[in-house]
Amino acid sequence: MKHEIKGECMCGAVKVSATTSDPALRACHCEMCRRQNSYAFVSLQADQESIRITGPVTVLKSSDWAQRAFCSKCGSTIWYGLQEDGHRNLSAGLFPKTGTALMTEYFTDECLLGNGFPGDHEKLTRNETFALFAPSEGDAK
Ligand SMILES: [Zn+2]
Repeated sequence: MKHEIKGECMCGAVKVSATTSDPALRACHCEMCRRQNSYAFVSLQADQESIRITGPVTVLKSSDWAQRAFCSKCGSTIWYGLQEDGHRNLSAGLFPKTGTALMTEYFTDECLLGNGFPGDHEKLTRNETFALFAPSEGDAK
């Protein structure tokens, strides 16, 4: 089942709409997500072809494989994306009351408080996260 989601950045200049078949939340505690978002980057999976974004967005190449978009006016995080295939994970905080449950946390051993968020969802350490996404890479950036 698809859900329509509509959201906007802090200042309202950037509007995002999409559909999602998977409104579960995922959180990443890696160093870059922490620096950009203060604690963790919490994302929402959207149907990629449905994503519509209007307004002033700056896209920053943040590593050899990733890029991050933020509002050019207020700096709100808009998405994290992969350069290779263009897949984007939308910032869950843009969308009011959309997420269902926290499904997975990444880099829990780099969480500011050490163990990630409370709950019995899937928790992956830095090494486990790399094993899942980038088995040949040695650095999170
Ligand atoms: Zn903004």
